[in-house]
Amino acid sequence: MSIDSKINRQWILKSRPTQGALSNHNFDFIQSPIPALQEGEFLVKNRMISCDPAQRVWLERDSYIPAIPLNSVVPAMTVGEIIESKHPQFKVGSRISSPLGWQDYAISNGKGPFSTLPIPTQVTDEAALSIFGMTGLTAFFGMEDIGKPQAGEVVVVSGASGATGSIAAQIAKLKGAKVIGIAGGAEKCAWLLDKAGITAAIDYKNEDVTKRLRELAPKGINVYYDNVGGPILDSVLTQLALHARIVLCGGISNYDGKSNYSIHHHMNLVTTRSKMQGFLISDYASKFQEGITALAAWLKADKIIYEVDVQEGLENAPQTLQRLFDGKNLGKQLLKI
Ligand code: NDP
Repeated sequence: MSIDSKINRQWILKSRPTQGALSNHNFDFIQSPIPALQEGEFLVKNRMISCDPAQRVWLERDSYIPAIPLNSVVPAMTVGEIIESKHPQFKVGSRISSPLGWQDYAISNGKGPFSTLPIPTQVTDEAALSIFGMTGLTAFFGMEDIGKPQAGEVVVVSGASGATGSIAAQIAKLKGAKVIGIAGGAEKCAWLLDKAGITAAIDYKNEDVTKRLRELAPKGINVYYDNVGGPILDSVLTQLALHARIVLCGGISNYDGKSNYSIHHHMNLVTTRSKMQGFLISDYASKFQEGITALAAWLKADKIIYEVDVQEGLENAPQTLQRLFDGKNLGKQLLKI
């Protein structure tokens, strides 16, 4: 079949989600022809889509980027194969990681807010979008540059069995820290202990987090890597050690507007002389190769593992993104087209 006769299926944002779960009603699943390539462009066949909690925010409102325009393709990082090219640097047959969104095919010129990265042949699609993708790099730079865990310190990670948290927790372990992961459910906690090899796990859905933190970290928490915000962040604030560092990576507990929890214990930052710092992974774009090199070395030496949860079918994109908010994913949530 020639490219001209291919049909591009695309998910278009029809209306903004409000409070609660994503619904297919917010999207149109359309089919459209693929335009002809211009000089300097190339055509990509998407193979795998990254699902990221921040997409829920982009769909709904302005944040660190403007809200996604209505009637446009839902953006997402993808791995795709170049199947046609009029660009001298992007060759047919190579794979790239870039923000090409919820669609089968996309035309690119290799420019954009996130760089278009070529993927080495030995790196799988799954690895390119997880440990070597935005979540692995977010864990790396957030922990290395802001958390800075030292041997013997107590490090707490929330969202600990997810894509970012699982890597952040293992990096802290590699630094010789005592690592406490917080995750929802017995299965995720067992994975953290048995597979990721961290020190302790708290099942926040079935345990009293504040009480467990007091038991597990009687001398206080030195580093907290926060992926969730809300009541878990507040519990950690009650148990800080002197000069603690809090890495504000994300706050998924309120991305869908279901919780309006207010933080009560921020004054403990004052009394413990602690620091709390947010960051965006895009801040580190010029250093991505440094992170990839370090993560690859740990992976090769069997010092770190990564887990992926691969769902299938472009038609299932909204439900697959929703899995993050229902806690259904273990490791990186991906969608294979
Ligand atoms: P994950 O793989 O961690 O998936 C999300 C997880 O969040 C779910 O599996 C679920 O796990 C947990 N969760 C969902 N709702 C709640 C809730 N109400 N309270 C506590 N936990 C909840 O996703 P990512 O690794 O992609 O993202 C993790 C965080 O990192 C997000 O906040 C994201 O926005 C942030 N992030 C920030 C970046 C930055 O540049 N600062 C870049 C990339 C990600 P469970 O079953 O344990 O509840």
